[in-house]
Amino acid sequence: YAAKRRQSGSMVYESALDAGSQEALSLLSELRRAIERQELRLFLQPKVDFKTGQVHSAEALVRWEHPERGLVPPMQFIPFAEQTGFIRQLTAWVIEESARFAQQARARGLSLRISVNLSTRDLLDQELPAKIAALLGRHGTDPSMQCLEITESAIMDDPQRALQTLERLSEMGFKLSIDDFGTGYSSLAYLKRLPVNELKIDRSFVMAMERDLDDAKIVRSTIELAHNLGLSVVAEGVETGKAWKLLAALGCDEGQGYFIGRPVPAAQLLDWLPRWKAPDLGDESLDTVFA
Ligand code: C2E
Ligand code: MG
Ligand code: MG
Ligand code: MG
Repeated sequence: YAAKRRQSGSMVYESALDAGSQEALSLLSELRRAIERQELRLFLQPKVDFKTGQVHSAEALVRWEHPERGLVPPMQFIPFAEQTGFIRQLTAWVIEESARFAQQARARGLSLRISVNLSTRDLLDQELPAKIAALLGRHGTDPSMQCLEITESAIMDDPQRALQTLERLSEMGFKLSIDDFGTGYSSLAYLKRLPVNELKIDRSFVMAMERDLDDAKIVRSTIELAHNLGLSVVAEGVETGKAWKLLAALGCDEGQGYFIGRPVPAAQLLDWLPRWKAPDLGDESLDTVFA
């Protein structure tokens, strides 16, 4: 990063005077060392199939166990990693750790599809599809067991290039998912062209659906839209039994949220999975929300 800045002339001198970017440089070097020092942690959050109550997939969510700052949540370093280009190394780390986890799970007779979040920079990297394939190959993970989540805004940054990368990933057999659906700026015209398999309804709608009729209608329409386009649909932010029942009644395919399970260290999920039993909630009448 410093070398890159130096190439761009006097920039580096100007910014060195600025305490903010001095801090940025030290954060970047700490982040670089975080991989070598094994301070990154792979957390996983289960996704439940509403029809069967079973868990067939989980999302990888990275954390940084900083020696002084403690467990740092992704929103405090992912945007920075994205700005500095470090995200490519970080994504590679998450993919490889996920593949290692999937291998451990298979050894215990558990078959899990893992979703990994990609960011804008990843999508602009022409080498990404080959890199992912190589990392998964090392751990014997089939591409169909790997899902990649992309937000609408990451796609809309450079739609042409993003589409090329996504098409390549799709041809290679990876599953693709649109994350935080409903909060970005993509149009339905793009959605139609993207080779995706899944929509994830943003948690803001799901968490509000029990008390706000408009949110409930957005959730209902998104499920219908996804199914009409032949896509499966996942609800994020399932925090209550009632949300689970409503989503199941609306035909939503999968759910993810604190009611089912919080993101936990990968090893912990291995112990959790065999003990998971879907709660017996009974049915929910849609009239309680859509009266
Ligand atoms: P996301 O991909 O939309 O992930 C879902 C976020 O919602 C996670 O936050 C998760 O912990 C949280 N969540 C799950 N269930 C519930 C719930 O029931 N209630 C509430 N209130 N929240 C819930 P987290 O782990 O803090 O991650 C935040 C974001 O950071 C992710 O949003 C994703 O955009 C990004 N991120 C995390 N890991 C990675 C990564 O490895 N690579 C990249 N590029 N981004 C990542
Ligand atoms: Mg995600
Ligand atoms: Mg999401
Ligand atoms: Mg979200």
